[in-house]
Amino acid sequence: MTTPRTKRHHVLVVGAGFGGLAVARSLRRSEVDVTLVDQHNFHTFQPLLYQVATSGLGAEDVAHQVRGIVRGHGNARFRLGRVTDFDLDGRRARLDDGSELHYDTLVLAAGAVYGDYGVAGVREHAFVLKSLQEAVELRSHILRQFEAAALDAHAADEGRLTFVIAGAGPTGVEMAGALVELFAVVRKDYPELAAQQPRVVLVEPTAGVLGPYTSATRAYAERTLRRRGVDVRLGTSIVRVARDHVELDDGERLATHTLVWAAGVRAHPLAERLGVTLGPGARVPVTDRLHLEERPEVFVIGDAAGVPGHATRAYPQVAQVAIQMGKHVGRVIRARSSGTASAPFRYRDRGQMAIIGRNAGVAELPKRFGGGRFGGFPGWLAWLFIHLIYLPGHQNRVSALATWVYNYFTYDRHARLVLDGRTRGSAAVGASAADPSPAPGHRASDAARRAA
Ligand SMILES: Cc1cc2nc3c(=O)[nH]c(=O)nc-3n(C[C@H](O)[C@H](O)[C@H](O)COP(=O)(O)OP(=O)(O)OC[C@H]3O[C@@H](n4cnc5c(N)ncnc54)[C@H](O)[C@@H]3O)c2cc1C
Repeated sequence: MTTPRTKRHHVLVVGAGFGGLAVARSLRRSEVDVTLVDQHNFHTFQPLLYQVATSGLGAEDVAHQVRGIVRGHGNARFRLGRVTDFDLDGRRARLDDGSELHYDTLVLAAGAVYGDYGVAGVREHAFVLKSLQEAVELRSHILRQFEAAALDAHAADEGRLTFVIAGAGPTGVEMAGALVELFAVVRKDYPELAAQQPRVVLVEPTAGVLGPYTSATRAYAERTLRRRGVDVRLGTSIVRVARDHVELDDGERLATHTLVWAAGVRAHPLAERLGVTLGPGARVPVTDRLHLEERPEVFVIGDAAGVPGHATRAYPQVAQVAIQMGKHVGRVIRARSSGTASAPFRYRDRGQMAIIGRNAGVAELPKRFGGGRFGGFPGWLAWLFIHLIYLPGHQNRVSALATWVYNYFTYDRHARLVLDGRTRGSAAVGASAADPSPAPGHRASDAARRAA
């Protein structure tokens, strides 16, 4: 079944993430029809997925249904479905249910997947944090390890209570800090575990944590993690992963049933369906107006896009890049329909921030905002504030704020629910990265690339 052509110019946006939603918002008063297609009926606020995985927030707090977001747009429709391929000459996108969507302009905003970088066993045994389901599955799995340990006095020796995180970029650091805090809560539930000590091992091949940050921030983050009990292994790579252990490049075998793979991302495999030679990180080369050189009607934005005009450079894979690119594509489409000229895309760095745990955050401003840097409690507050502003949906903001305030004062985490589901292996891990390019962004560590 092919969706009939509409009379007005039809913009098809694949992916209702940060970039895709920014396109729809930017076009909402334009004389075009917009269809947003996504494999989920909700937008996922990925920066808070680790909070779901560690019971800090409930799943509904970090997602918002797309129909609700575009309800007031008038010219935008949502379509639930997974895009599998494109007929670029016929200007159609194919969906996994066999249907096709026609477009006049296509915007690929499908994000990224984790790369396994050739490390054996990652696809089968590692957990990743890319979707809401994966965050809930990881949370369930973590809590199951405590349940198993409660029944077996030797569980800790078998690695049940050892949680390994690959990659000390922002996601790895945030996950490590949050896990340690979860342990303090969970231990109260399990008097049987008095003699068994859970631990977090953070494995990073480079010399420090939080790669993209300044050395002072990195040193502070590492110190804070160690002080909170995280076993930080720098200059170390994971070379093999099995169900009950990981092997490090120094020959050590760590017994564990939980490896969280936060070690670098690559563009979504749909990028390969555009018929162009991909750049570093399997990202799509685009012009300074963010479309394919040979096909001005096909735009690529966000985590899947390269830097306009640069074959080897890459923007950080962060929400701000996707949002700014999405807005820019909206401006280019509007300019085209009014017959005016559009400006080239320019990314404006808004700084970076990460959280290590309670009262410990780091934030760095770009030079044009004074280049300031703050950590500790101010960094933590700044992080909370910014994430609340960007979290979509008023109800989500109220709910997340209430939960954080409750957790802060009670030292509790109520979302400690074990839900059934797939527990290992993820669709969000891309094939072995033949092109193991760095993920230079906010969260990605180039750890695994070096490990490969
Ligand atoms: C755990 C984690 C923590 C992060 N923390 C931060 C942070 O603190 N700050 C920050 O700035 N950035 C952070 N990021 C990065 C940020 O989330 C991404 O850079 C941003 O989401 C990229 O936006 P996008 O629009 O390119 O893709 P996404 O936001 O990933 O959206 C892609 C959308 O495409 C949909 N999709 C994928 N495949 C298909 C298909 N075949 N058919 C239909 N739909 C499809 C997906 O369901 C998704 O909704 C984090 C990312 C992760 C995973």
